Amino acid sequence: MLDPARPAVLQLPPPGERLPLARTLLLLVLAAAAAGCNGVVPFAELDDVAEPTILEKDAPVAGLSGGIGRSALFAVELPPGAMALTVRLGAGTSPTNDADLYVRAGEPPTPEQFDCRSANIGLSESCTVIAPTQGRYFVRVIGATAFADAELSATYRVRAPRDPSIPPGASVSVHVALGLPDGSKATMPNADHFLSVKPQYVVSYNAARKVANWASWELNSSYLGSVMRAEDFRPDDTLPPQLAQATNDDYLGSGFDRGHLCPSADRTRNAADNSATFYLSNMIPQSANNNRGPWGNFEIYERQLVRGGSQLFVVAGGVFEPGGRTVGSGVAVPTSTFKVVVVLPAGATSPGAVETTTRVIALLVPNDDTLVNVDDDWRKFRVSPREIEARTGLDFLGDVPVEIQDALETRVDDAR
Ligand code: MN
Repeated sequence: MLDPARPAVLQLPPPGERLPLARTLLLLVLAAAAAGCNGVVPFAELDDVAEPTILEKDAPVAGLSGGIGRSALFAVELPPGAMALTVRLGAGTSPTNDADLYVRAGEPPTPEQFDCRSANIGLSESCTVIAPTQGRYFVRVIGATAFADAELSATYRVRAPRDPSIPPGASVSVHVALGLPDGSKATMPNADHFLSVKPQYVVSYNAARKVANWASWELNSSYLGSVMRAEDFRPDDTLPPQLAQATNDDYLGSGFDRGHLCPSADRTRNAADNSATFYLSNMIPQSANNNRGPWGNFEIYERQLVRGGSQLFVVAGGVFEPGGRTVGSGVAVPTSTFKVVVVLPAGATSPGAVETTTRVIALLVPNDDTLVNVDDDWRKFRVSPREIEARTGLDFLGDVPVEIQDALETRVDDAR
């Protein structure tokens, strides 16, 4: 405890040097604890404004000034379909100016509670929250030093309207009955979005990456039998020959598994079905801990849902970021793998069966053995479907009314 007779000394960082987070928090705690005796005001009372100033999209607020530990509160109102909010703080008149940004959904952020924080040196701050839900987001600017003449701005993206040229998924295959995730076409030239409709699943193939953009399939008990794994990994001989494909050699010694999108164990009623899952067009270079850990355990959980009487629609694929690595002859390695599973009652196969109470489980698993342990619970990788839409540009549940999509896609599943 602090001795009230000896007020805490708050040491400021030298110009241009940033305090480590732990020391910053300690100073704030000391400041709050000392407030009663030496006039330092606790953080919660530091707002320069009682009510937040509303930030309009792409309309900067200029001329912000403050002192060390002083904060000002702003808010942004996001419309339905919002996908990503970016807040920026810049400019300022002195090289020693330094303020930091905190953003939080629904409630004012504190240094301990925020959805995103930017604490760079100076006034060059940017904070992005992927896939926000609609409604109010609060933004707090806190002075790390005295600062003057800063400029704050907010921008956001909203879900793009559905491409009207995308046909209803049910007219293409039952495996995409809730909607095609993008405008992939089963004709050339669509080398980077080639739609391959198979009896067992549908895949959007990308010849530049030599892996799928996504695979989609239905899963119900009729697909589950007892045939052995075919293990006949091979290039997909149903794709147009001019599309470049991976070979088994590309994966050999790469350090990555040939990871199924549509799992072998989801197609076990006959040998032909199982063999079709071993096309390399259904594989991604997948980290072993991911594939054999949470990813594989979630696949087991999905089949448990099916045996319990559910009909599933599944979309899976990789998230690819600029500058991502490749293996072999240029097979792209996703930075994360995603899966979106819609859980319907047995027999329900139409978009009309999807309601605002429908369970949707979305997973985003880092594709990196240093970020995933083989015994990690898959549940810790759950995100909102909208976050995966924001990261991939895909549109899940595209044939379901947008109001229902907005309700389902902004939730994170939390059932056991
Ligand atoms: Mn959608």
